[in-house]
Amino acid sequence: MNRITKLAVLAAVLGAGLFAADEAKAPKIKVLLITGHDVVPAHPWRETTPYDRATLEASGRFEVTVCEDSAILEASSLGRYDVILLNYGFWTAPDLSPAAKENLLAYVKNGKGLVPLHFACSAYQDWPEYKNLIGRIWKKGEAGHGPRSTFANKIVDPDHPITRGLGDFEADDELYAKLSGDAPIKVLVTADSDWSKNTEPLVFTHTYGRGRVAQNLYGHDVKARSTSAYKVLLCRCVEWAATGNATIPANAFDGK
Ligand SMILES: [Zn+2]
Repeated sequence: MNRITKLAVLAAVLGAGLFAADEAKAPKIKVLLITGHDVVPAHPWRETTPYDRATLEASGRFEVTVCEDSAILEASSLGRYDVILLNYGFWTAPDLSPAAKENLLAYVKNGKGLVPLHFACSAYQDWPEYKNLIGRIWKKGEAGHGPRSTFANKIVDPDHPITRGLGDFEADDELYAKLSGDAPIKVLVTADSDWSKNTEPLVFTHTYGRGRVAQNLYGHDVKARSTSAYKVLLCRCVEWAATGNATIPANAFDGK
């Protein structure tokens, strides 16, 4: 080995070591997972919430706090979390107080992250700004889905941090269709709906003020959340909403 090669190898070893040390030192992303109300028994939040929490924690990237009372959105301490994950839905969900609404909007506008999952798009039907906040909502009487089935999903933006390196995949889930909203969204994953006869966006992002919102419409139940593709998309949506980047490898959950 000549001297230049030796130096190159030494630099690579040192570089790898420093990178590993940086990774180990990187503070965990603080996630507030709000749950506690959903369609019963179709959406078993008591099962899906601990399941998603375990997925996030298995990545090593997140510290997750679960709250079953959406009144936490009134808390002045909301800013201690980097991102809010909503596993919370249904149009019978209690409305938020004016203080909670104002606090949540300010939280995102000021640069924090928000990830609504699956039927979170149905909550707060009487709060018009919720549509602008999350980009697309389930409007009662308009949105819908066909029978739960296995369907093909297409990565339509392979260059985004959330989808980079991921191939098209199958999901055993509900395919949400005809959601409402006109906020400009960046569509990352789609599927063709037999129910709406349209190509539907299922993972998409947008910005609200200085904040990042990644909406992920998958996740009817634990079975739907148990695939490698679901787990990577969950982790990456949460990481991207918190930081603007996603570092969880595309194969992080292969075979797990
Ligand atoms: Zn569902």
